[in-house]
Amino acid sequence: MADRSYLDWPFFEPRHRELAGALEAWAGQHLSQSHGQDVDAECRALVRRLGQSGWLRHAVAGTAHGGVADVIDTRSICLIRETLARNQGLADFAFAMQGLGSAAISLAGTDAQRARYLPRVASGEAIAAFALSEPEAGSDVASMACSARADGADHVLEGEKTWISNGGIADFYVVFARSGEAPGARGISAFIVDADTPGLEIAERIGVIAPHPLARLKFTGCRIPISQRLGEAGEGFKIAMRTLDVFRTSVAAAALGFARRALDEGLARAKDRKMFGGVLADFQLTQAKLAQMATAVDSSALLTYRAAWQRDQGQPVTREAAMAKMVATESAQQVIDAAVQLWGGLGVTQGQVVESLYREIRALRIYEGATEVQQLIIARELLKAGA
Ligand SMILES: Cc1cc2nc3c(=O)[nH]c(=O)nc-3n(C[C@H](O)[C@H](O)[C@H](O)COP(=O)(O)OP(=O)(O)OC[C@H]3O[C@@H](n4cnc5c(N)ncnc54)[C@H](O)[C@@H]3O)c2cc1C
Repeated sequence: MADRSYLDWPFFEPRHRELAGALEAWAGQHLSQSHGQDVDAECRALVRRLGQSGWLRHAVAGTAHGGVADVIDTRSICLIRETLARNQGLADFAFAMQGLGSAAISLAGTDAQRARYLPRVASGEAIAAFALSEPEAGSDVASMACSARADGADHVLEGEKTWISNGGIADFYVVFARSGEAPGARGISAFIVDADTPGLEIAERIGVIAPHPLARLKFTGCRIPISQRLGEAGEGFKIAMRTLDVFRTSVAAAALGFARRALDEGLARAKDRKMFGGVLADFQLTQAKLAQMATAVDSSALLTYRAAWQRDQGQPVTREAAMAKMVATESAQQVIDAAVQLWGGLGVTQGQVVESLYREIRALRIYEGATEVQQLIIARELLKAGA
């Protein structure tokens, strides 16, 4: 049984311990690391199941619209992501995307927009997606080219978005496009685009090392009524950053979940694997590896839940969330690599838990701000504070 004593840390309240315990029991019954090959079907089913069981209510804000509370509780979404990632990467993905894909509506939607979309996101009846990146605008997202030209009361979208998670299975996309009120970041607006809107096309499905639904979207004369715009014209970039601000710490939590599972798997193998008249765990080289893995897990957990707690106190977390994301994703990669090493040939054998963790972790060091971008954010905050 994995060590769960960290739940006694002062970052958590009794409701968090209850949530983690209940989800752990649910995950034990409903999830396993291996799943079918049809990730579209698996994902749709996971979203339904997570919705029916009430977990997605934590991913949206507003009790009137299906949420458990009026603001998203960062510690809760982090505990949920950590627990799901420890049990099944695709389940974590399904949960995270319902939150990321609908957060702009939770944060900036009108009552009508919130009433139309959030209850269905929370129940798992509608699948959400967040469409920010473009082929020529990833880290430098303010340079996006996809345009939203005003035409009477409508906007007309032209251009592309790529690496869009849930692309192809989403029921709606929150799309960020250049509406031109000002140059750069101040000339971007956000729109809710239903998947069946004429002019929106899934131009390409993208395969990645840990498969999940991912696509390139193409907009050609895609007409969006003003009622589907989120916030005011020109506020899109701010809305995107506020969305990432909520969810960045939860990426650290997902990485932490993968790392915890790798530590559990590594420990189990070290204790079981017979060699040289003893077991793998008898050797000091193994013990050094296990010590480093456990310390990396705890330091990631401390940074992750510090950032989550601080955000829930209403304090700014730009620096803390960036530290958590950078350390948790980078050290999870090392912890998982060490677990693969402990498992030897089995560690790289398809179908083994550590083999799937090795593939699952990689993209987390890239999306929602790559590690280098987090370094720049941390340094900028330090230099600003020192100025
Ligand atoms: C699996 C997956 C899922 C994704 N899901 C979504 C989604 O749902 N919605 C969405 O909008 N996007 C999504 N993305 C896109 C993701 O956000 C981008 O991949 C990410 O922002 C990086 O952009 P890029 O791939 O263009 O890399 P680039 O921006 O080209 O970066 C390449 C390298 O340059 C580094 N770099 C950047 N700036 C600097 C600098 N100033 N100095 C030094 N090095 C630097 C980066 O850290 C990186 O290592 C997803 C990506 C992946 C892989």
